[in-house]
Amino acid sequence: MKRGFAAVLTATLAAVLLLCGCSVKNAAAQFIAMDTTIALRLSGAGAEAAVTAAEKQMHELEALLSRTRADSAVSLLNGAGGAPQALDNRVWALLAAAQDYALATGGAFDVTVAPVVSAWGFTEAAFRVPSRKELTELLKNVGPAHVDVSQTDTAVLSPGTQIDLGGIAKGYATDLMQALCDEYEITSGTIALGGNVYVRGTKEGGTLWQVGVQDPAGSGLVGTVGLSDAYAVTSGGYQRYFEQDGSVYHHIIDPATGYPADSGLTSVTVIASAAETDGANGLPGSGTMCDALSTALFVMGEEAALEFRRSSGLDFDMILVTEDRRVLVTGGIAEHFNKQEGSGYQYETVS
Ligand code: AMP
Ligand code: MG
Repeated sequence: MKRGFAAVLTATLAAVLLLCGCSVKNAAAQFIAMDTTIALRLSGAGAEAAVTAAEKQMHELEALLSRTRADSAVSLLNGAGGAPQALDNRVWALLAAAQDYALATGGAFDVTVAPVVSAWGFTEAAFRVPSRKELTELLKNVGPAHVDVSQTDTAVLSPGTQIDLGGIAKGYATDLMQALCDEYEITSGTIALGGNVYVRGTKEGGTLWQVGVQDPAGSGLVGTVGLSDAYAVTSGGYQRYFEQDGSVYHHIIDPATGYPADSGLTSVTVIASAAETDGANGLPGSGTMCDALSTALFVMGEEAALEFRRSSGLDFDMILVTEDRRVLVTGGIAEHFNKQEGSGYQYETVS
């Protein structure tokens, strides 16, 4: 079961639209890739070409990173049986970044959780509840120590270890979109890949883009946040889950237990500046960071997430939504956060 991200970025056109007349052009498109609806609205000299290139790039990335395609780079690595595997340089850079985030988050973000994600049926949408014994067995092959990326463009996984880049791939895709926007002289626009949003420049007239944060427990929003040149990435159990015998099981796994994370949070939105990021060079940058962290902080829970933000040395803001209906907004964005009147949530600014 899946529910889309109710961003305020709703304008969607089925095909590329070109509204020309002056040197600034506008183009928009909506398509599906990486199992997600992708919506782009771009303004700038090369808007139309940028939209075409972005769609091509997304399909290329999907072909490299998909776990359900037998010939993807990720599937070939997962099937290598412990032997060194040559990797496309983008896949290697992303896996190396994933390793860094696994270490930085104490394993809350860990792409080697792949076999556990599959055991719950999330890879093939064939949902089931695995036994504790099965999970204990699978967890023996989970952990960053089972991945070796010390040699550039090569990776070695321990036999039995597999990776799933689903918790970070869309973030990297938005980094690459930012690089494309630079190349095609895009001055302003929005790109939404499900819960991963990149906003470029400002709206016409210099006003901030408004990005909606969905109510994890309902169909509306808990608020909107005004942003320019930034990434906003939301992770939440409500985005993908199944129900069995009256219990709900969602897709974000706590690698320490093998069970869906049960940390008291219902969603985490991580926001970071898109200025001065490695993403501009085609490397994993702030978009990737936001994606890895939103998944990790959802696993960690409120207190550990706040402590991580204070001590990690990484520059980001966040919006935490809790099971007991509180919305916590960190200081750096509090000024630009707009509460949703009548939502029933209690709002707090936190540091
Ligand atoms: P996201 O929506 O970015 O939070 O990513 C969730 C997806 O990442 C899941 O559907 C899994 O494919 C994968 N995943 C689940 N748990 C973790 C975890 N703890 N660390 C890394 N990836 C995970
Ligand atoms: Mg993520």
